[in-house]
Amino acid sequence: MSLPFCNVALPVPLRTTFTYAVPESLREIVQPGTRVIVPFRKKAMVGVVVELTDRAPEGTKIREITKALDRVPALTPKLIELGHWIANYYLAPIGEVFRAMLPPVIEMRTQRLIVLTEAGRDAAASLSGGELTHGLSRNEVEFLAKLAAKKEPLPFGSAAKLGLDANALDRLRRLGLIEIRETMLGRKAKTQRVIAAKSSAQISGSGDLDEKSLRVRSMLAERGPLPMPLLLKLASVSRALVERMLRDGMLESWEERVDPAEDPFDVGYEAPAHELNAEQESAFGAIRARFELGEFGVLLLHGVTGSGKTEVYMRSVQETLARGKTAIVLVPEIALTLWVGRQCRAWFGARFEGVAVLHSALSDIERAREWWRVRHGEARVVVGTRSAVFAPLDNLGLIIVDEEQESSFKQEETPRYHGRDVAIVRAKMENAGALLGSATPSLETYHHARNGKYELLTLASRVANRSMASVEIVDLREDFQRTHQTSPISSALHAGIQACLTNGTQALVLINRRGYSWSVLCRSCGASVQCVNCSISMTYHKHRNRLECHYCGSLQAVPKECPKCQSKYVYFFGEGSEHLEERLRKEFPGARIARLDRDTARTKQQYQETLGAFAAGALDILVGTQMLAKGHDFQRVTLVGVISADSSLHLPDFRAAERTFQLLTQVAGRAGRGELPGRVLIQTYYPEHYAIQDAVRQDYSAFFEREMHFRRMMQYPPFTSLANVIVRDTSLEKAIVWSRQLSEYFAPHDGKGARILGPATAPLARLKKEHRFQFLLKSPRRSLLTRILSGAMAYCDARSIPQTAVLVDMDPLSLL
Ligand code: ADP
Ligand code: ZN
Ligand code: ZN
Repeated sequence: MSLPFCNVALPVPLRTTFTYAVPESLREIVQPGTRVIVPFRKKAMVGVVVELTDRAPEGTKIREITKALDRVPALTPKLIELGHWIANYYLAPIGEVFRAMLPPVIEMRTQRLIVLTEAGRDAAASLSGGELTHGLSRNEVEFLAKLAAKKEPLPFGSAAKLGLDANALDRLRRLGLIEIRETMLGRKAKTQRVIAAKSSAQISGSGDLDEKSLRVRSMLAERGPLPMPLLLKLASVSRALVERMLRDGMLESWEERVDPAEDPFDVGYEAPAHELNAEQESAFGAIRARFELGEFGVLLLHGVTGSGKTEVYMRSVQETLARGKTAIVLVPEIALTLWVGRQCRAWFGARFEGVAVLHSALSDIERAREWWRVRHGEARVVVGTRSAVFAPLDNLGLIIVDEEQESSFKQEETPRYHGRDVAIVRAKMENAGALLGSATPSLETYHHARNGKYELLTLASRVANRSMASVEIVDLREDFQRTHQTSPISSALHAGIQACLTNGTQALVLINRRGYSWSVLCRSCGASVQCVNCSISMTYHKHRNRLECHYCGSLQAVPKECPKCQSKYVYFFGEGSEHLEERLRKEFPGARIARLDRDTARTKQQYQETLGAFAAGALDILVGTQMLAKGHDFQRVTLVGVISADSSLHLPDFRAAERTFQLLTQVAGRAGRGELPGRVLIQTYYPEHYAIQDAVRQDYSAFFEREMHFRRMMQYPPFTSLANVIVRDTSLEKAIVWSRQLSEYFAPHDGKGARILGPATAPLARLKKEHRFQFLLKSPRRSLLTRILSGAMAYCDARSIPQTAVLVDMDPLSLL
């Protein structure tokens, strides 16, 4: 297939592709899915070919593709189909959809190899007598013989040295005697420094060692030689100390090769492989039965926290691989890719040529490398966050979405897709299974499971007869009246943490905001410090000594006086995670404390170090934002404290109750997962709220019934579909004019099977310098919404309202 033109999706916010000519020299290479460099306006841009065509639009000057970036097309035909679906369903600019699906643009060093096929091997054997058959030349026969003798693939470039030109190679390929494969060049071997204790005979008189050196010694005695960074973390000592001990001859060190396929995080790890209990067995049986059918289907694994869902996932992936297919496991947080990735590597790494992990805390190079490993078929299991749903696997058999209710699966920038929903659509397109798992399914998903659209599998109890954690409410009003303390840590929580320290168990403390304090107020005039670009108050970060906007990233100096009235009484208010950490250090001076939030964990290594240290027992208290709330399986955590259950309850959002219930239930699930029983303390000013009450009882079905009643009355999802439309511009006037125009288009549609509310000022009235107005569309028929909205896009084009000024959020999770 070599057609003269192609349509290219470019990363520009326009709902169209662009036609380019394919120069003769690139016709063999450029295919649907190939990334190309093309001239666009005055720039060169990287885009992806979505189709080849023999026609170009008339009347425009067609320019040529400059270069092809891939020899194997980056995207498979199925992924191109999926991209089109996303662009249509979410009304998203097609180029931005494909940009989200592609790997970072990094030149990968690849190598083309010539591989002898089965048929080629036979031919080489039968031709060895020297007679010329098959219409092959002597040269070609000799080449096949050499290839057969060599026993390993030959680099593409060496063919010429063996006297074979490109034409001859192509002939052999077409005859099916050889294959040309592409692999990535081997990575350079990495090494790491490993530290060990000198044998005890050489060290006497350790009596005069200080406490820290003793910790290092006993850590090494206990765990054997350790890589330097891990040792520093586990013993919580400085590098300087270890260097000193090395110089003093107490320790020794050497460089050790790190097996590129082996993550240092995996060293010494063995995946649990439990015999499934009866509930797990029956859930897995149903999944297997689905495989027997060999067709698309969605299953919901509803299992309470600690019921062993992961074990069921692992068996399902194993079953998928055994059938020669591939699998994706989506998790809601980067932190969780560590555990699940490690578990998958332990289960499948060796036997099935690999597991790839994809998430946004990888460097571009790492991400591109993992991505291409998948594309070249070198990894058959992919673990990752949201965008891993686009992993370029062939022959997909299963997509697992763990904690399917999590809002992190929804991308809150263009293209605004929902990873879980895209997973289901992709599974359908590829005739694969979709397995959704959760202790607290979203209302939508559970609704589908109850009305039979999804198959419902239930794990009603924790493994090994462990009991659920006991959940207690701390009424903050009462606590304050009694103690008159203003600490964010109530006396009950303080006592609970103290008990953990005394018993040598661990505590998790959760707070939902990062930073030191999330509001800066003037006591004198009441003004609060707002972001210059957004209608949002600035967050104070003490360590960095500045104010930050968590929406647009803008920075301000910490004010010494009120910017409005110049009073000196600037007041920081509303505790964030940084504040809480400081507080805990003050209240528990001897404890080993760490914090995990987006400020302390930006890279994969930072996640690994903190979580690894906590899991290994090198920390007593871990403070964090909700990234700690779900999924983690820490065996020695006996106490979980929630600083404020209310903060998520008061958002102007119909899902506020659902979110609060889910978060608290998940949090409660982190305690008492091992042999030791768990206890959860939830601090609140609003203990009567049903979301909190049902979470205390960990009663999903009570919450579900109550919330469904409310949703039905209010005509909210799952009883209706929603779309949120934002009209935005830096000029207030333009934003108003365009909103008015759009409302003229919407008016005749209102009341005819759809309700259209607005325009109103958006709850976030200003964001990143833009003024925002909002329409809310509701209809029991989603297809009607899509029709109205595509009409709206055409209307905007006709009125010259820029496509970038109108944001469509289909199935919005948040109405801000
Ligand atoms: P969930 O994801 O449902 O909260 P996990 O899958 O993390 O729960 O499992 C909780 C713990 O139970 C893990 O430590 C796991 O190794 C263990 N586990 C899983 N299945 C079994 C089983 N059949 N018997 C004993 N322990 C199990
Ligand atoms: Zn003031
Ligand atoms: Zn801002």
